[in-house]
Amino acid sequence: MSETRGQLAEHLRFFSELGVNGVSNDSRWSTRPGAASGEPQPSDAAQPASDAAPLRVFGSSGDALAALRAEIGADCRRCKLHTLGRTQVVFGVGNPDADLMFVGEAPGGDEDIQGIPFVGRAGQLLTKMIAAINFERDQVYIANVIKCRPPGNRNPEPDEVETCEPFLFQQIDAIRPRVIVALGSFAAKALLRSNDSISRLRGRVYDFRGAKLVPTFHPAFLLRSPERKRDAWEDLKRARALLTAPVSDDE
Ligand code: URA
Repeated sequence: MSETRGQLAEHLRFFSELGVNGVSNDSRWSTRPGAASGEPQPSDAAQPASDAAPLRVFGSSGDALAALRAEIGADCRRCKLHTLGRTQVVFGVGNPDADLMFVGEAPGGDEDIQGIPFVGRAGQLLTKMIAAINFERDQVYIANVIKCRPPGNRNPEPDEVETCEPFLFQQIDAIRPRVIVALGSFAAKALLRSNDSISRLRGRVYDFRGAKLVPTFHPAFLLRSPERKRDAWEDLKRARALLTAPVSDDE
């Protein structure tokens, strides 16, 4: 590619001023004339999603998300989870133009069946947490670091995260939320590239991909440890305050 990243960023800013937002690194788009084209090749299937592939400009965040969903495919086989009993890919749900986004770990059993993140018991608590800061669930966007259920709800393994996490980053880049709430240790550590516990990470605001990132406890943990709900409430209030703060020039 002859253009530098700086020039690309300038182009994207220009498109953004025109009201065009959302990008994709769909590998089909980047196939050059002369190369084998059409259906994704087997070697494609083994590749993790790239975070730095050529960009495609979309008319809306919704279009960008739809293209990303299509790129992942209904029967994604990029990591071993497709052989380990997952029912379906759980892409994400909510408002493509959300100012507020929640990121969890991975689908559990209920999510795996319904294809929607956070619909089980933890999800019901998350819905209450969202309502507590005066949002409806469909006003925000909810996604996970990985899109398929690990067997027995075990923690996602590093190769699974490495393969799937770029799709989360592309979701974030399409939605461009002002505030991201990372739910639980796994999501906070994965996004912040930290080994610190959630207890150490929470209580602060981080810059992440153009958004403010607020780590808090996972709702499943809060169901087991309700005495930590007070801390989670402080985090949610922090997120709400960030959303009501005036937008600064560099946002
Ligand atoms: N826990 C998560 O981290 N994500 C879900 O979607 C459900 C439970």
